[in-house]
Amino acid sequence: MRIQATALCLLAALPAAAQTARRGEIPPAFAAVREADLRRDVGEMASPGMRGREGGTKDELRASMWLAERYRRIGLVPMGEDGSWFQWFDMTRTRVSTTASHARIGGQTLTLFGDFIPTGVVPAEASGAVLWVQDARDTTADVRGRIVATPLLAPAPATIRANSYTYATRYADAAIGGTLARFARRGAAAVILVADAPVDSAFAVVSDARVRGAYDVDRAIPRAANGSDRVAPPPALGTGPTPGFLVHASMREVLAQQPQAELSIRLERFTAPSVNVIGMVRGTDPKLRDEYVIYSSHQDANGVRATMEGDSVHAGADDNASVSAAGLAAARAFVRQPGKRSVLFINHGSEERGLLGSRYHAAHPVVPLAKVVAVLNGDMIGRNNPDSAALLGTQPPHRNSTDLVTMALRANALTGKFILDTLWDRPTHPEGWYFRSDHVPYARQNVPALMYTTNLHEDYHTPRDNPESIDYPKLTRMAQWMYLTGWFVANAAERPRVDPGFKLER
Ligand SMILES: [Zn+2]
Repeated sequence: MRIQATALCLLAALPAAAQTARRGEIPPAFAAVREADLRRDVGEMASPGMRGREGGTKDELRASMWLAERYRRIGLVPMGEDGSWFQWFDMTRTRVSTTASHARIGGQTLTLFGDFIPTGVVPAEASGAVLWVQDARDTTADVRGRIVATPLLAPAPATIRANSYTYATRYADAAIGGTLARFARRGAAAVILVADAPVDSAFAVVSDARVRGAYDVDRAIPRAANGSDRVAPPPALGTGPTPGFLVHASMREVLAQQPQAELSIRLERFTAPSVNVIGMVRGTDPKLRDEYVIYSSHQDANGVRATMEGDSVHAGADDNASVSAAGLAAARAFVRQPGKRSVLFINHGSEERGLLGSRYHAAHPVVPLAKVVAVLNGDMIGRNNPDSAALLGTQPPHRNSTDLVTMALRANALTGKFILDTLWDRPTHPEGWYFRSDHVPYARQNVPALMYTTNLHEDYHTPRDNPESIDYPKLTRMAQWMYLTGWFVANAAERPRVDPGFKLER
């Protein structure tokens, strides 16, 4: 799949600022943004030894220490707790307990997440005879209160999500969701879903996506407009949605011969430390130095998962070592030549687990949020066509500062000269890309915010997102663009204004 084929579309509707660009607007420190540094930093941060930097694990902590050491060597000022580089927070994790849960089908004890996958984070208690429904489309049987077993229905093509994740994952999600919903609607107590051939071959990948459970962070900016800042209690037995369980295709015969099941699923909840890494370059202007520009990235990726093509480490080179390296490059330039305003460099922890680090920091900022004049966030900036990129937050309802957009477009005209895609910033785009990175909690707090990206690609969230697949000349131009935007903001006479009436659609 190639995304950019449909995504190229000129930014005709955006404020035209490019024409007045002059060479003199580029500061000497621009030369500090170097391809060699980006290549080395992405290579180290996304190396196999970093083990995919999963949020809430020691692999994320290792990457965070690596970043802090980079910040120190570059010469940033630590802005975390107690003079350190780190702002700690506890993630709340809720998952199916593999020690307190058990499952038996047809007299066989099944291994949780090995040959039996609970499809949701839902407690369950059901035992007795199993009603075998040969065809899930058959609605004649009374399934109320019953344990039902049925072969997975192949999903309608329209229900298989486009673009992100591997096809096997998307197919499995659509098949599980679609088949389960048919019986949940009709009051089944539990549904055992027998894998078809495509899902059976992706069983380990499906398991990896579900064994981790659900994550949240307390006292943070809510995930959605009108959401709560508190973590919801875990679902109690009998209160959640209908529990579903995926089993291998080979269980079909067992279920036919001995249609009996004992399903006892318990949840466990615990906290785990995650961390934001924060450094600063102090501004030079006595009045403006108490205002801040934020460069934002996330250091976590998706850890170690099922082996695909001989590799199990989700190295996260594009997602998001690319932007982390761009932030380090901008930091080198600002240390060499500080701006009038101060600049904060933040790597947010546990972005992949639900924007946890940015939701926490936007609620507990290390400087007053009212003094933050802009957030320049990036996610995945080193792939796809060399001449194209996207800037999210440029169109209503996502645009919250026309002033900031104007500065970013001026910087693009002087540096990257990218043809800017406009489709992915639209509220109608099926990926909802705007809502999937760390600028969102800041935008919800009315801080002018943008997201730089070169969009999704076929290696997204797979072990193929490796340093070798990054387009380094393109990444360099993206980093230069982000740097120059921040330079303009840091030195502008007036801070970018928030557009009146800004309101996100969800
Ligand atoms: Zn990301």
